[in-house]
Amino acid sequence: MHILTDERQLIRDAAREFTMKRVLPLANRLDPEKGAIPRELIDEMAELGYFSILIPEAYGGLGLGAYEYCLVAEQLARGWMSVASLIARGNGLIGALKALSPQKKAEVLPRMARGECLGAFALSEPNAGSDVANITCRAVRVGDEWEITGAKYWCTFADQADFILVFARTDPAVDARARHRGISAFMVEKPRGELPAGCQGSAIPKIGYYGWTTWELAFDRCRVPAASMVGEEGRGFYLATAGLETARAHTAARSIGLAQGALEDAIQYAKDRNQFGRAIAEFQAIRFKLATMATHTEAARALLYAVCERIDQGQRCDTEAAMVKLFASEMSERVTSEGLQIHGGAGYTTHFAAERYWRDARLTKIFEGTSEIQQRIVSDALLGKGAR
Ligand SMILES: Cc1cc2nc3c(=O)[nH]c(=O)nc-3n(C[C@H](O)[C@H](O)[C@H](O)COP(=O)(O)OP(=O)(O)OC[C@H]3O[C@@H](n4cnc5c(N)ncnc54)[C@H](O)[C@@H]3O)c2cc1C
Repeated sequence: MHILTDERQLIRDAAREFTMKRVLPLANRLDPEKGAIPRELIDEMAELGYFSILIPEAYGGLGLGAYEYCLVAEQLARGWMSVASLIARGNGLIGALKALSPQKKAEVLPRMARGECLGAFALSEPNAGSDVANITCRAVRVGDEWEITGAKYWCTFADQADFILVFARTDPAVDARARHRGISAFMVEKPRGELPAGCQGSAIPKIGYYGWTTWELAFDRCRVPAASMVGEEGRGFYLATAGLETARAHTAARSIGLAQGALEDAIQYAKDRNQFGRAIAEFQAIRFKLATMATHTEAARALLYAVCERIDQGQRCDTEAAMVKLFASEMSERVTSEGLQIHGGAGYTTHFAAERYWRDARLTKIFEGTSEIQQRIVSDALLGKGAR
């Protein structure tokens, strides 16, 4: 419905083709057995430039915008949400990594653009989820190094990444009125397939978002060079929130991709499945469900593109980004649930992808800021700040 430029259509169609040929068959095979996203697929994504969409051309990236990033993410999520999330392990960290020293940027960003240096993000802690300023993980300066000690929770891809972006308090004095101060960011580099020295982890038993592991991490005097600090000491919180508008648009794109997958599969199933001597697609109850699913998916897409335009024009749009994240993720849970319903009992098996879309859509309401946190952002914009 939305009119895309020729270039954007090409980008979208290429991502669609890659998804249907490569991502979807792998997801259908690996998700039911909780298998890992194969490294060959990651290499193919690197070849296509999917880790470099937002990286400036000067660093070997494609130098495109949130619009193109979200077009690709939506298509990949139509196949497997975890794969759509993976592209944020390059692009999604660029907001924070812009604060690296010029020398480090010249070293890291071209490798990131080529998919050779992908990151994990360790901000959340057992007692710091929505309230991220509550983090207690500490970093203490020891000579030319920093020593990181503390617990991190929900760190997806910690093992397979080439580095973990870790947020820790470098100033032990917590100002109760400005708890976000005194937090610093560290780029903890490590070999692929391992956790850093001085860090132990265990896998969190999640109910979806398979293809990679989400970790609980315990840092115990994990030593990193002083030069690993990203940006200024004590100002890491601003890096954690840099690029949040794009991250929320990216989550909306993932939600829309899942809804689109649910819709397409439900249409096919409705045509194939006969009951009462006819295809269930002939029953008005099913037809109206499909019409509503399509309408809600398209509405979220239109809002997403409008938000992307604003991000790419450099206009502040934190409220609108919260709106699209809220709207698209809530829509996605409803639409994927209806897709499952159209499959009847078959939807409640792993023989069809309908259950995967639904499980993964459920997560989009939780991460990158829960639906309630988005509602808080939007209501604060409408009414002024309320109770925290
Ligand atoms: C599968 C998965 C992968 C993740 N990957 C990563 C990752 O790679 N890196 C990372 O750092 N984090 C990651 N996260 C963490 C994610 O960002 C948090 O789960 C999320 O921010 C919510 O925090 P919480 O789980 O502690 O919930 P809580 O903050 O404890 O929230 C519990 C409930 O209270 C509500 N609530 C909290 N505060 C308010 C308020 N002020 N007003 C109204 N309602 C409120 C919430 O909306 C929610 O319903 C991941 C999470 C999951 C589930």
